[in-house]
Amino acid sequence: MPDMPALVKPRPKKNEPWEPGLRLVERPVPEVEREDQVKVQVVKAAMCGTDVGIYQSRDSLRQEMKDNREEEVITGHEFCGVVEDAGTLGREHLARSFYERYVSHENDTVVQDFIGGRSYLEVADDPNFLDFLREYFYITSEMHKVCGVCHVCRTGQSHACQNTIIKGVHEDGIFTKYAVVPANNTLLIRKGEIPPEVIAYMDAFGNAVHTAQSINLMGASVAVLGIGVQGLMAAAIAKWCGASFVIATDFSNPDHGYTHEKLEQHRFQTARNVGVDECVDMALPDSRARLTELVMQYSNNTGVDAVLEMSGSADAYKDAMSIIRNGGTFALLGLPSKPITMDFSEQVIFPGVTIKGIIGRGMFHTWETMYRLLKTGMADLMLENGFVSHTFPLAEYKSAFEVHEQGEAIKVILEP
Ligand SMILES: [Zn+2]
Ligand SMILES: [Zn+2]
Repeated sequence: MPDMPALVKPRPKKNEPWEPGLRLVERPVPEVEREDQVKVQVVKAAMCGTDVGIYQSRDSLRQEMKDNREEEVITGHEFCGVVEDAGTLGREHLARSFYERYVSHENDTVVQDFIGGRSYLEVADDPNFLDFLREYFYITSEMHKVCGVCHVCRTGQSHACQNTIIKGVHEDGIFTKYAVVPANNTLLIRKGEIPPEVIAYMDAFGNAVHTAQSINLMGASVAVLGIGVQGLMAAAIAKWCGASFVIATDFSNPDHGYTHEKLEQHRFQTARNVGVDECVDMALPDSRARLTELVMQYSNNTGVDAVLEMSGSADAYKDAMSIIRNGGTFALLGLPSKPITMDFSEQVIFPGVTIKGIIGRGMFHTWETMYRLLKTGMADLMLENGFVSHTFPLAEYKSAFEVHEQGEAIKVILEP
């Protein structure tokens, strides 16, 4: 069996330190072992906060990975690839989804010539089908593998499945050349529709879309707390979807070299470029008063309709409570590292605030929404505004994690 380079993390062992970092090793190329699997070749991989958490051996990830079945897993879960192989059911699934989405593209002669009036099952049986997909389509995948049989899945909320396995965390992911994924999780995208470096981070974009689509943003006033990559994407989506006013907050951190000027030049400038109306650096004196004043001015002393919490910071929860209107919605995606205290009587019940925890991406309505948003302009908007800030070959992963840790990166791409 041929080998491929792979970035791996060992399973943490009880009562032993869990070494920070990852290792670049040679791994055998995986093969399709079940009928419902698809093997992909990774073209571009994207890094996210979870990968940084694994790299830094954070406690929350130690907890997640301590019961992994394998001694070590290939990390990474955001990718754009091409189809390499598939089992029988996998082929049928690919044929069906190709058919569903593209049979109506009447002007696409490449697609129409290949279909040639055949049914999707005939297409699946065509010995050239996978080569055709490889040449003309990209593929990506939801990397949460859900059980489909638990009560949560069966009632239409698989994104919160109680038996979720995350590829790249619990089992092999995509910081490598080839990977095997469940066919049902895949999404085919015609080359030319969405650039591959954006397809590579659809998983992360999906978190932001899922957060934004949990609220009616049409005409709404919105505060986005924390504009790292998730917050920037959520703010851009809110504006794109018709929010009337978006205010964003973040923290400068001069002790770590992230000065107010840097925050202004990077994140705040990017936020303004995608339509954010006001930005407030919460590290400056009297910033909460300034934030409240801006919101109250805009909203005629009512408060914002929605707060999207993307930072996980306890202070941001306090900010949220000082600017949200009665009956508003507080959507939470940022992960606090510690328990947070709130006065539920005063802050939630009496004002009638709705709190929503957001996990993963709606399966698969978020993916359908993303595909359309990206195809109709959001991919270009993000690329034009530098959302893909760095690209490294896989072997230079250390530099990739370094730029991530410095706080100036937005999305970092690794090429295997
Ligand atoms: Zn991710
Ligand atoms: Zn389930």
